Amino acid sequence: MLADKDRIFTNLYGRHSPGLEAARKRGAWNGTADMLRMGPDWIIQQVKDSGLRGRGGAGFPTGLKWSFMPKQVGERPHYLVVNADESEPGTCKDRDILRHDPHLLIEGCLVASFAMKAQTCYVYIRGEFVDERIALQKAIDEAYAAGLVGRNACGSGFDFDIYVHHGAGAYICGEETALLESLEGKKGQPRLKPPFPAGAGLYGCPTTVNNVESIAVAPTILRRGARWFTSFGRANNSGTKIFCISGHVSRPCNVEEAMSIPLKELINEHCGGVRGGWDNLKAVIPGGSSVPLLPAETCETVLMDFDALKEARSGLGTAAVIVMDKSTDVVRAIARISYFYKHESCGQCTPCREGTGWMWRVLERMAVGQSTSAEIDKLLDVASQVEGHTICALGDAAAWPVQGLIRHFRSEIEERINRYRSDRPHVAVAAE
Ligand code: SF4
Repeated sequence: MLADKDRIFTNLYGRHSPGLEAARKRGAWNGTADMLRMGPDWIIQQVKDSGLRGRGGAGFPTGLKWSFMPKQVGERPHYLVVNADESEPGTCKDRDILRHDPHLLIEGCLVASFAMKAQTCYVYIRGEFVDERIALQKAIDEAYAAGLVGRNACGSGFDFDIYVHHGAGAYICGEETALLESLEGKKGQPRLKPPFPAGAGLYGCPTTVNNVESIAVAPTILRRGARWFTSFGRANNSGTKIFCISGHVSRPCNVEEAMSIPLKELINEHCGGVRGGWDNLKAVIPGGSSVPLLPAETCETVLMDFDALKEARSGLGTAAVIVMDKSTDVVRAIARISYFYKHESCGQCTPCREGTGWMWRVLERMAVGQSTSAEIDKLLDVASQVEGHTICALGDAAAWPVQGLIRHFRSEIEERINRYRSDRPHVAVAAE
């Protein structure tokens, strides 16, 4: 289990004040001016050496992403945009950073912006996060008053402004280019890439978009050193991570743990175990609703990191662990997730716009057994035609849960179809 001395987020549960004075006592803003004195190249190299991979879902190396920004500012200004649109079902980690440890995020915004020569940072916060926006703005005001941000931030000679922008509650605005469109005042629809934001992002200027947690951990990495961060987790999966565990466990919680912790240990040590005991486990969605679920057998041994979960044909995603015990109607659960993606599709691409609705409607019938075996194959085929054939990853997010369901629980769907047929021998099935 991660020792308290190694936790980056020491106020995750809001037991202490989120204010500047208390945050400073916990270590925030400690030595920030010294970090800036080391220069942008040193900061980027440290973050690269730490092996930090983006905490928003995709897991792209953060230091490498920062290094894609132009080395010098030309005619166009540089921007850092922090993605605080946290909307992936099951995920509630950024929310706790925003309301309980906002100064770590603001300090991270300064350090990251300095490294990328961005004098302006926008934090795009989810529409429903009203208290969090108020808490963050209060902390930003404190930082301005203390000279930590603004003109000559931390006495570094670097002028830096940070703004909070409130979204309107659309899931798709968590996709980085849709977020930029929304920030520019347009409809939140993803852009085709390339160009990537580092070349042409906000207002057509070089921009980096990072998740809240990725930015908030950066100052502590610089303070404690890249080697300290790499001492947690397996190679290529280093660091600590906030896991959000919900569903059928005794004590759902958010907890910061070392990467690569076994899933079973995470559930047993921090959540009091599965409701009714480990043997009552049916499946786990390990990384937010968009990743394929894992059956109980896999959960016995799987490690919670990017590579181990990829090998298990799922993903770490946002590290939102949704636990389902044997009382779960897993077909109905995935049908509900499918409805979510259908509802949130922006409608630009045909496979996503039409495919998400089609998959949801078929799953609704399958949940009551009103289907055929052949239709299971057709559903799998449609899911594979949606996956990878759309502008943004929402198409994949809609396809993966369906693929996971059929991969691991096909027999349950078939059983339901057989039961439906034997109960109603004279009723024609809609799919036939
Ligand atoms: Fe919009 Fe879906 Fe296409 Fe993404 S994949 S751009 S959400 S239609």
